[in-house]
Order: sequence, then C-alpha cells, then structure tokens
Amino acid sequence: MNLQAPKGTFDWLPPRSERALAVRETLTAPVRRAGYGYIETPVFEDTTLFVRGVGESTDIVSKEMYTFEDKGGRSITLRPEGTAPVVRAVLQHSLHTGRLPVKLWYSGSQFRYERAQKGRYRHFWQVGAEALGAEDPALDAELILLAVDGYTGLGLTGVRLLLNTLGDRECRPVYRSALQEFLRGLDLDEPTRQRIEINPLRVLDDKRPEVRAQLTGAPLIVDHLCEACKAYHEEVRSLLTASGVAFVDDPRLVRGLDYYTRTTFEFVHDGLGSQSAVGGGGRYDGLSEMLGGPALPSVGWALGVDRMILAMESEGLLGDDVGTGVQVYGVPLGEEARRRMFLLVTELRRAGLTADMSFGGKGVKGAMKSADRSGAGYAVILGDRDLAAGTAQVKDLAGGDQTAVPLAEIVMTLKERLDK
Ligand code: AMP
Repeated sequence: MNLQAPKGTFDWLPPRSERALAVRETLTAPVRRAGYGYIETPVFEDTTLFVRGVGESTDIVSKEMYTFEDKGGRSITLRPEGTAPVVRAVLQHSLHTGRLPVKLWYSGSQFRYERAQKGRYRHFWQVGAEALGAEDPALDAELILLAVDGYTGLGLTGVRLLLNTLGDRECRPVYRSALQEFLRGLDLDEPTRQRIEINPLRVLDDKRPEVRAQLTGAPLIVDHLCEACKAYHEEVRSLLTASGVAFVDDPRLVRGLDYYTRTTFEFVHDGLGSQSAVGGGGRYDGLSEMLGGPALPSVGWALGVDRMILAMESEGLLGDDVGTGVQVYGVPLGEEARRRMFLLVTELRRAGLTADMSFGGKGVKGAMKSADRSGAGYAVILGDRDLAAGTAQVKDLAGGDQTAVPLAEIVMTLKERLDK
C-alpha cells in the first residue's frame, strides 16, 4: 500500500496551497503595518514550557500534546500553540527590558493530538500576534481590530466577534468559588465533577445539551467583576464601538488555555459546522510569571489559517479560477531548440515574467497540450526552421494568433504584450 500522510494531517497542493500562502500574507498585513515584528520560534520546545504555560488541567496538555523523549533523554513537545513559546523567547532574550510593549507576530505549524474531523486537524497553521508588557485597554482593542482587518482583507463577511472578560487575580477567585458552589449542586458525571475542582470555568464551555440545560442559572463573571476589571472592560468595549467593530458580549466565553485573564475573545464563522472558531485570544497577564519571568501583562491572538480558508470557501470567495500558471510556455522542437529554449526561458524569468517549458522530450502535440494546461497566455514555439531564421513563433494561446519574432526581441515583445 502506498504511504499516506498521518491521520489528521493533509498536504497542501497547488493551487490551494498558493491560496494558503496568500491568506497568511493577508491576515498578517495589518499587524505588520502596526509595527509588530516577525518572530520565529522552534517547532518543538521543552515539554515543561507548555505544562507550566498552557496549564496541566487543560485538554491541550492533558490529552493533546505530541511529546517524546529525544536521544539526549529530554522531554520535548511539538508546539501546540504559539503564545508560550513567544513569551519564553521574550524572557530568554530580555526583549522586555527594552521599549514596551514588545509587539510580535508569528506564522507557523501547530500540533495537537485531537479527534480529527473537518476543520480540526492534528497539524494546522496559525498566524498570531502578541503585545507584551503593557496593561492598556487600547492595546486589547488594537489587537482585536487588527484581526478584524485581517479577515476583512480576505473578503470574509460572516465572522462574528464574541467578547468577554475573565476578571483578574482579585475577582476571579471569588467568582470561581461561587461557580464551584453552583456546579457542585448539579447532576454531572464523574469526569465533569473532577473538572469542577480543577478548572470550573471550563464546565461553562461544555457542549452537551444535558449539561447546557443545567447551566442556565450559573453565576456569570460579569456579575463578579472588581471595579478595575469592570472599567477596563468597558474601555475595551467602547474603543471597539468607536472603531466600528461589531461584537457580541458572551459572558460564557472561556477559552481552552489557562493563562487568560481579563479580555478574552473568539472569532466564529457560522459556515463551518461544529468547528466554528476561526480565531481567538485574550489577555494573559500572569503567563510570564508562570514561566519564571517578571510581571508582564500581555495580550494576543491566534487565527487558524486552515479554518479561515474553509470559511472563505463557504462564502464562495475561492473560485476554481485562481490559477497558479505561468505567463509564457516554451515549446522546443528538437535537441538544439531545447538548448536554446532553456536559455530563453531563463532570460524571460530574469526579466520578471513567469515562464516554464516542456520537459521530457515531448513531441509537438504533447508539448502544445502542456502549454494549454499551463495556463500561459503565450507559447513560444521553436523549431529547426525558426532557429535557422533566428526567430521563434509567439502564439497567443487564447486568441490563436501566431507571429514570428526575432529571438533577440522575444523578451521585449512578451513583456510589452503581458504588461498591458
Ligand atoms: P487556540 O490556540 O486553541 O486558541 O486556537 C486558535 C485558533 O486556531 C482556533 O480558533 C482555530 O481557528 C485554530 N485551531 C485550533 N485548533 C485547531 C485544530 N486542531 N485544527 C485546525 N485549526 C485549529
């Protein structure tokens, strides 16, 4: 049997792969315009980083990590998310001792051993942005706005922004106790009961109807916020409103990572079925300290590129017509012509045109078929008679016209025709 890509993974092939590249570019253009710098961290890290940073009780750490021992006996984990590595890198290189906030963006593979289904993969791509070292509602609002600009740049209109706050170390513990008390009185299975003790906020996120039905009267964080958190959240909301960003207050929005405080948000798209989150993020004021660093209040997000593309497809934004073809296709007939065409194609590429040629010693029919399939606007056909005359035939593949052009003028002629 032929080898297959591992379960939960897939290959990006042209032309879809080209779209994926373009989507990453578009999603990150707004943060680049806003002064965020590019950071690239290793695809794997010491396991401790995620255990401490993401949180032992989270699904990611308890069930989904690709962890292995390397040949030196170290426990290594393929990164399941980008924020903890970014904070680790900032602390390691003391970026936080300079001008604050430190603004960074990244783009890369993430790995989670999840139940694979449409929109949920074991290897997926995120772009992310983080602003570290400032506690300022304008920074939360800026990041949300930049994400909105990113997916708006893709043409998406069906993304909704859900917004919540999780409080801080003042008010969250009080809320947590109130919630635990409420949850302990419900009819729940044993694993959920255990979750109440470890991470009660996650129970609010339970998708099972029989659990949801019991959660209607659950205490909500909005009713337990301290004055500082209330004022902070109001300012984020009012900046978003003033910027024309529509959002829905979702007092039950919690996220799958432990490090969030205050502002949390998620971007959802309704065309995706159950895996509707196309991105999410929030403030993580305590993460640096969890990793042994100083207090470094920070905020960030990650957007799922795979799901953004599915969302675009569901909105009909990716037609079949986005070709990856070249502009010019060379059809050499005979050995000498092949050698000359090789040089001509190189010349065309260096002149800034995209060009390909027929390889593998195809006859004229096969080579012309390849030319048609290449998506090129023009074929350059070179036979023995042309060579003797010092010309080549330039054929307009759409219109069918064919003219003899001196070899020395081919590049100029094609540039003129294609630049129109
Ligand atoms: P998270 O890091 O869990 O906050 O996820 C941020 C975004 O990454 C989500 O909103 C999804 O768009 C995307 N994402 C997370 N997990 C997966 C996955 N297993 N497969 C595809 N995309 C994912």
